[in-house]
Formats: sequence, C-alpha cells, structure tokens
Amino acid sequence: MKKLTDGLRDFWKCEICEENSQLFVCKICRRKVCLEDFVITQGICKVCEMSLCQICRRNLSIGKCENCGRIICQSCTEYFDGARRYCKECWDSILNQKGKREIYLK
Ligand SMILES: [Zn+2]
Ligand SMILES: [Zn+2]
Ligand SMILES: [Zn+2]
Ligand SMILES: [Zn+2]
Repeated sequence: MKKLTDGLRDFWKCEICEENSQLFVCKICRRKVCLEDFVITQGICKVCEMSLCQICRRNLSIGKCENCGRIICQSCTEYFDGARRYCKECWDSILNQKGKREIYLK
C-alpha cells in the first residue's frame, strides 16, 4: 500500500529532473525547479535557457539565424522572408559585405 506521504513528497519535486526538491519558479514557463535546473542570474529554468534567444537572452527564440546559426527571438530578427531569418548582428555585416540588393534578389 502506498503511503500518503509519498504523494506529498512528489508534489514538491523539481518539475524537470523530478529528483531534487523545488526551490525556484521559472519566470518564463512557471515551472518549479531545483537549484541544479535553475539559472539564478536570469531567474529561469534550464529548459527555458536552452530555448532563449542567444542574442538578447531575454525572450524565447522563434527561429534560427541563417548565417550564425544562433537561435533568436522576434525582436532580434532583423530580416525574415518566410524561409530565411537573419539576426540583427549578421544582417548588419551582410549589408556591409554584399549590399542589401543581393540578399533580396537571391
Ligand atoms: Zn531538478
Ligand atoms: Zn522555464
Ligand atoms: Zn533576442
Ligand atoms: Zn546571425
């Protein structure tokens, strides 16, 4: 027979590893996670950190930059034509190297 306390203890388990006890709440996904699965400096969980925009580190990413391969959010996307996406950093250097017309015409 299952003890009543087993269920209670599970309730307080980290929602990612399900092993350690919950200590923090991720401000993005609201998951309750343990110390190991939490990025204290940012107030978010490891899962969200992985899908976070690699430029601003504030928003969740929506796609990948064609040039640098970083995952980027809406506000860090400088160019998107439905297929190709470029981050603002790459877009600037692409403009400098090739000129805007080449990209649009390709
Ligand atoms: Zn955990
Ligand atoms: Zn999270
Ligand atoms: Zn961003
Ligand atoms: Zn880029």
